[in-house]
Amino acid sequence: MSWDLKEALLHASRQVQSARDQLSDLDAALGDGDHGTSMARSFAAVEQQLTAMEGNEPADLLELVGNTVLNAVGGAMGPLFGSAFLSSGVALRNSDPALSSAERTAAAIAAAADAIQRRGKAAVGDKTMVDAIVPAAEAAAAAAKEADASSATVLRAAAEAAAAGTERTKELVARIGRASRLGERTLGHQDPGATSVTLVLESLAASAGA
Ligand code: ADP
Ligand code: MG
Ligand code: MG
Repeated sequence: MSWDLKEALLHASRQVQSARDQLSDLDAALGDGDHGTSMARSFAAVEQQLTAMEGNEPADLLELVGNTVLNAVGGAMGPLFGSAFLSSGVALRNSDPALSSAERTAAAIAAAADAIQRRGKAAVGDKTMVDAIVPAAEAAAAAAKEADASSATVLRAAAEAAAAGTERTKELVARIGRASRLGERTLGHQDPGATSVTLVLESLAASAGA
């Protein structure tokens, strides 16, 4: 691996903590206003665990992030983000060594999307983080097939698709989770969980050099 995943995850953890107020403000319009606090608390624990960790194996790193988020007390985001990172680590661990690093990166993002859908049972269009991670996984799979594909180009494609999906959540009525109680009043507001997914992918893409 030509880039340092541990450094990238540390950087993403700090960016999540910096975005705490922005994420909570989005959640204040749609839910209970705690999304930024939950994300920041979880990723402060991630930063601590990564800093203390000795090794540098990508699968181990992602599994550590996943388990740390699962163990931190969070709202809906905890089990969703936690299982996404955990599953992406498991996918890397079990991936065919003959695959390119671009293909392995795409497989890890696909595993994250599957995990979020399995856990939360939300579909595309329900106005959740699924609206960011599913198009991200699709874009990643397509980017991995390009001739000059790398982890960086795959992450860049995933981040751009996640950002577009997050933008589209403004036009959606929430159909699942706490926000669904507000019904039509959720129109015009961007989903906080989708915003967080995009932030993490953007950060990783930037660290990968894309
Ligand atoms: P809580 O609603 O428990 O306060 P958070 O504020 O941490 O949880 O997270 C809210 C975000 O969680 C939403 O913006 C949405 O993206 C995501 N979310 C909620 N329920 C689901 C679900 N069933 N599937 C996928 N994502 C969900
Ligand atoms: Mg909330
Ligand atoms: Mg809550």
